[in-house]
Amino acid sequence: MTLNPHLPLVYHPNYSFNFDPKHRFVMSKFANLYQHVKQLGLVNNNLTQPRLGSPDDLELVHCANYLADLWHNNLEEKALRRIGLPWSEPLIARTFTAPLGTLETARLALKSGIACHLAGGTHHAHTDFGSGFCMVNDLAFTAQTLIQNREVTNVLIFDLDVHQGDGTAAMLTHQPYVYTCSIHCEKNFPFRKSPSDLDIGLANNMQDDEYLGVVDDTLQFLLKQLNPDLVLYDAGVDIWQEDGLGKLDITWQGIEKRDNLVLKRCIEHNTPVATVIGGGYDRDHLRLAQRHAIVVEQAARF
Ligand SMILES: [Zn+2]
Repeated sequence: MTLNPHLPLVYHPNYSFNFDPKHRFVMSKFANLYQHVKQLGLVNNNLTQPRLGSPDDLELVHCANYLADLWHNNLEEKALRRIGLPWSEPLIARTFTAPLGTLETARLALKSGIACHLAGGTHHAHTDFGSGFCMVNDLAFTAQTLIQNREVTNVLIFDLDVHQGDGTAAMLTHQPYVYTCSIHCEKNFPFRKSPSDLDIGLANNMQDDEYLGVVDDTLQFLLKQLNPDLVLYDAGVDIWQEDGLGKLDITWQGIEKRDNLVLKRCIEHNTPVATVIGGGYDRDHLRLAQRHAIVVEQAARF
């Protein structure tokens, strides 16, 4: 099957920077993902680059004091440990730019039906603290911005990263026009979960068929019930059986089927869908980039 060379993609070269290659968080994955989709012939005149972000941009959903402390490296040691990444200027530049990328991706999806961000899905970031490699929450920021600007009426955040989307859930708990759904491995980080509108905690070692059944039933039900103007899809690939931090037993083909299914259901329902890459952990950095490219390749088949 030929891939659509015009699929809207969003990327910024500051997403990856020189970083400890032995760190659990693979900072090179964004640049490697970009190179990989370029090799697939998917980068043409269809690439959008967001502008550089700043604390002002994120104040819609984050506490101003937290953003200022994060920006100026004034967070306490304990708060930085919870984030799990060493503070640096390039880290902060990428952190504040990526949410604008997810917003851009959502706007492209509203225009074209489907669009992919080669980053995003920092769902463990809360209003006034960061956690689990996440400092600011692109999903909450994007949904809230679009609603505030009346670009959409309602949004479904469909989070299939293996870890529960606690930050997104907590930040949007009083926002009635964003529905948060997280399907994750129950006995995995975060161990104290903030309730989403719908949480489905899966058993360890769940395999493809059962997993795909849960995903399909849930998405079909939500599309019908909510009729959202937009789906923000967190296509985390840490569900993979060999992922460094996942505890499910999903095959590579299972990820391909999942992403195909999610996109197909949204298209069938005429609901625009914007994808973010979410989590993925692997000592083999090129294999990780290929895994994150699955959702882009599947999107390019429609
Ligand atoms: Zn994850």
